[in-house]
Amino acid sequence: MTTDAGLRWLFRFVLPHRFRLALVLLTSAGATALSLAPPYLTRLVIDDGLNGRRLDLIGTYCALMLGTALAGAALATFNRWHYLTLSARTLFALREALLAHLQRLPPRFFAGRAVGDIMARVDGDVADIQRFAVDTLLAAANGTLALAGLAAVMAVLSPKLLLVSLVAVPAQLAVVRALRPRLERQTRSLRERSGAVTGFFIETLGMMKLVQSSGAEARETARLTRLQGDLLDDLRRLEMTGAAAGSLPGLIGGIAAAAVFLAGGAMVVHGQLSVGTLIAFVAYQARAAGPAGTLMGVALAWRRAAVSLARVGELLAEAPAVTDPPVPLALPAQARGFLCLEGVGFAYGPESPAVLAGIDMAIPAGTKIAVTGPSGVGKSTLIDLLQRHYDPTEGRILLDGIDLRRLRLAELRRCVAVVAQDAPLLAGTLADNIRYAAPDATDTAVRRAAMLAEVTEFADALPLGLGARIGERGATLSGGQRQRLAIARALLQDPLVLILDEATSAVDHAAGRRIAEAIDRLFAGRTRIVVSHHADAFAGADAVLEVRRDGVVLRHGRLAA
Ligand code: ADP
Repeated sequence: MTTDAGLRWLFRFVLPHRFRLALVLLTSAGATALSLAPPYLTRLVIDDGLNGRRLDLIGTYCALMLGTALAGAALATFNRWHYLTLSARTLFALREALLAHLQRLPPRFFAGRAVGDIMARVDGDVADIQRFAVDTLLAAANGTLALAGLAAVMAVLSPKLLLVSLVAVPAQLAVVRALRPRLERQTRSLRERSGAVTGFFIETLGMMKLVQSSGAEARETARLTRLQGDLLDDLRRLEMTGAAAGSLPGLIGGIAAAAVFLAGGAMVVHGQLSVGTLIAFVAYQARAAGPAGTLMGVALAWRRAAVSLARVGELLAEAPAVTDPPVPLALPAQARGFLCLEGVGFAYGPESPAVLAGIDMAIPAGTKIAVTGPSGVGKSTLIDLLQRHYDPTEGRILLDGIDLRRLRLAELRRCVAVVAQDAPLLAGTLADNIRYAAPDATDTAVRRAAMLAEVTEFADALPLGLGARIGERGATLSGGQRQRLAIARALLQDPLVLILDEATSAVDHAAGRRIAEAIDRLFAGRTRIVVSHHADAFAGADAVLEVRRDGVVLRHGRLAA
């Protein structure tokens, strides 16, 4: 994504909030305008009130000072409320858009990228972009307004002194320009390294048992120390660049103040300027340091945001492997799960070797097919094709006569359920897990699926039954219990085609048989594909297929339509 495309993308998230943005801008401009009053009022108090010995005027000006302070505080409170809403909504919309994109990406993407890297982009980079989109732009607008207001008042007080105070501005601009490339490089490196630390924790927490049983604790700690050491290097470098940039406004402010005192002092001595005016001018000049620093910060923040935009852009540039057809076809009402593969071949990329080739077969509705073959031969890939996580690179797959590419993805995936060997569970109750693919299912239906998959066997022993909560990632369940839950989930989904990928490998022998029988009974009229290495799982199969590099061969049984 180019910077322009990045900005256009970002603009989409800010645009819906343009009215609130305008309101925030207006209120902060109002607050800034009010904050300009006190030095001017000070001048009036000194030059008119004190010099003219007019107590009444002093009283009036002090009341005005109080009034502007109160009004400023009220405006600032109003502004913060709207600002927070604006800022949070933009951040959340950015994250939601990114999630929606990630949800369309194929398994290949997630297999090929460290979770920590994706997390760093979704979290750190998106937050940086949002800060730029809202905070920085508002700060830029406010800073510009404030500087313009200050310059206007200073021009009224003394145009000559205003010119004097601008002496160092060109130098400031040149330094900011020179620092930019370094800042960009350092920001990218910092983002990558903080992603590595996040990734380290995600990985190590997910495999703590392996770390412990391999006695790798010290090695892992040393790895974290190394990663954090690298991070500290980057933090220091960036901090130094920031400090170099940050010290500029102060330095330049100092030079400008000295110049103004020198020139202004001479003017007062020659009677060309009143003391009150010089004091007010210096006060305004001191105030200019804040917005001037802000504007310089904006220039630097933009470079950081550009880095983050590019990193998020890399995620957005990942293309989905499959998309919904523009005009989807509906499955016929009498669809029963008739699968037909015509010359199906697949490779993971143009350069990769073909994983599957020349598969021609028809699996009649209601058939039970056993699929076997050595590991790495392409069984999981074949299943991914059936659920359309990828499209075949050659040939086509039909479900009840319709090319999978012509079906809505959601409909296809509702009709073809897969129970994988390591089916993930979510944190929640047992019932939540069973209901995941069919959220509207009734309690009775959930219980029935739980009984068929023998989930009730262990759930009923728990005080809350199916309402019992399981730990995150199903940590409190045994492997076999997790598989039974995953089977119950698929049963409740009531698919036309049920694919069990080593789905009962962790269940004991007898239970595996009982579950298989229950599935065969319940899905007697539907298509079942059982992928397994165990001959046991093939009981009652109409045909046993073996996946090989050059196609699929029929080992036993028949596949007549
Ligand atoms: P099986 O399920 O039969 O064990 P898979 O379908 O998982 O086999 O893998 C088939 C082949 O495809 C393997 O050689 C594997 O290395 C390769 N493969 C799997 N996923 C990817 C991927 N995302 N990118 C490239 N190659 C892959």
